Amino acid sequence: MKSSEKILVLLLLLFLQVGCAMSKSVKISSPAGTLTAEFLLEEGRPFYKLYLGQETILERSPLGLTCSRGDFTENLKLADLSAPETVSDDYTMPHGKQSRIQYRANRRVVSLQNPQGQILQIEFQVSNDGLAFRYRLIGEGQTTAIEREATGFAFASGTVSWLHPMHDSKTGWEKTYPSYESHYEIEKPVGLPSPYSAGWAFPALFRVGQIGWALLSESGVDQRYCGTRLAQDSAGGVYHIAFPQANEHRGPQDPIAPSGKLPLVLPWRLIIAGRGLDVIVQSTLATDVAAPSKIADLSFIKPGRASWSWLRYDSVGTDLPILQEYLQMAADLGWEYMLVDCDWDRRLGYEKIAALSKEAHSKGVDLLLWYNSNGDWNNAPMTPKNRVHLPQVRREEFRRIAEMGIRGIKVDFFGGDKQATMQLYMDILRDAADFNLLVNFHGATLPRGWQRTWPNLVTTEAVMGMEFCTFDQANADRQAQHCCVLPFTRNVAASMDFTPLVMDRKIRGVRRKTTAVFELSLPIIFESAVQHFGLAPFEASALPDFAVDYLKRVPTAWDQTRFVAGLPGKDAVLARRKGNDWYVAGINGENRSKTMLLDLSFLPKGRPGILIYDGADDSIQTKIIHSPSAAALEAQLAPSGGFVLQILQP
Ligand code: CA
Repeated sequence: MKSSEKILVLLLLLFLQVGCAMSKSVKISSPAGTLTAEFLLEEGRPFYKLYLGQETILERSPLGLTCSRGDFTENLKLADLSAPETVSDDYTMPHGKQSRIQYRANRRVVSLQNPQGQILQIEFQVSNDGLAFRYRLIGEGQTTAIEREATGFAFASGTVSWLHPMHDSKTGWEKTYPSYESHYEIEKPVGLPSPYSAGWAFPALFRVGQIGWALLSESGVDQRYCGTRLAQDSAGGVYHIAFPQANEHRGPQDPIAPSGKLPLVLPWRLIIAGRGLDVIVQSTLATDVAAPSKIADLSFIKPGRASWSWLRYDSVGTDLPILQEYLQMAADLGWEYMLVDCDWDRRLGYEKIAALSKEAHSKGVDLLLWYNSNGDWNNAPMTPKNRVHLPQVRREEFRRIAEMGIRGIKVDFFGGDKQATMQLYMDILRDAADFNLLVNFHGATLPRGWQRTWPNLVTTEAVMGMEFCTFDQANADRQAQHCCVLPFTRNVAASMDFTPLVMDRKIRGVRRKTTAVFELSLPIIFESAVQHFGLAPFEASALPDFAVDYLKRVPTAWDQTRFVAGLPGKDAVLARRKGNDWYVAGINGENRSKTMLLDLSFLPKGRPGILIYDGADDSIQTKIIHSPSAAALEAQLAPSGGFVLQILQP
């Protein structure tokens, strides 16, 4: 090298060093280049931004955390930056919105050093539908508690939000909250505090001006961490990660701060982002970054439809004559399951359940059984109680019901997101898998990528479901709008046990405000690997034959899902494919009739469609559409109405 070249190199190095001391920037783009994350280290403080094309979807947002060993929010220097890598993961799911999934992302790991020489790594993975990032605390064996996260999400003013308030702990019915059962705050400016004092639940939806949409959530939360949320205050549109409240679940005996032995890997934080809502609705990011299945033989995991007497009859529905009617209905409709809800141990007992299980098998139906998760952490009186929270009792119970031919459990009333509660969720999933039992969590947290890691988790409530529309007329009045928020929020992240399908105009003294066809479209609009339907036998027998045929064939697990049209809280049209059959369904969240122009050109050409649509006086009508595969099909939606279009393999 000539001396002049040497001087040039030295000058360049000096320039880089000075530049580094002030601020550093690392950009990571998605494989198609549509989305770009930028890591920034400014005067020792870490931040990130997210761009959609050239436009900013997430403003400069804080990173870092404070743990019992040291602080990683300031005075940091860049110790290492990994070379760009590509992540490529092809996997299949036995249920969910899509069966075969290809995850492609670009990955870089930033290593930050604090003045004590400790290292915090941040892993960034950018796919075409979003950014996933997580922290990794480096070390060997030392126990560390995470005291606070600085992690935030900063939205520009003008951003609009659809957010799910967290309830305060030990409030609500029999002190069972939080249970992720609230109405969303719809289309509100960012920066407002949550209506209670416990922040906002994931997933959280934002529309950033005219630029695009972002959905915040998390994945890969297990016994190593707590479930987090967005903090109560979001001044200036900056939403911060917050921990559970002190009194959740078992209360003060469990610490708020998650802890573990180093090295510690924290959960993935997700920002699903795109220009259109198709990116949000179709995203599989929550399972893409979750750990692969821990269950080797998935043959016992069968998605399906379940009859369920509780919605209409409460615990009286657990009496034998009613159960036998619901069992016969399930058999007649070719449904795979019947869920026996609370108090079955007192109203029937194990022997009668064993006999009912046998009778069910003779009709081609399997039984699912309800359990109370308690413990003494709330006052929910339903039984069986104290059967699933102690390891030995739980395994003995699971063995006993598995021997009776029971195929799954519904476990209710968890009420918290602390690390200890996450441990309970994981323990139930693992032990249930050992006895080939399916699991349905109720009164529960949002499952965070769990259906990939533990695919015996077939659905979770974590939603203000149909039951609320039977408790209170005010909830029934809001049902259509509420249902139009869920496909863009809660149901993006995981199977959702909304428990739809009420045909009679009245239920428990409440009057249904949606149309009958709105109800019929929900099994397509809402994804749940096991759909627990509220339909009662007297309602089923009043249905026209074409509606019965539809309920006999409707799938609950999908090969493909497409967003067709809609806006959160206003309307939603989704298309789902199983094998060569397509189902397109729409719901109207507004109390006025409307015409929607749908692009259905993706449908197979030359096949007719069977349309189910609203007639006068809440009647259910049908007709054949000769060529539904059109670029601009006109769909008429009644006020709070719906439609179902079936395009079946000839
Ligand atoms: Ca519930």
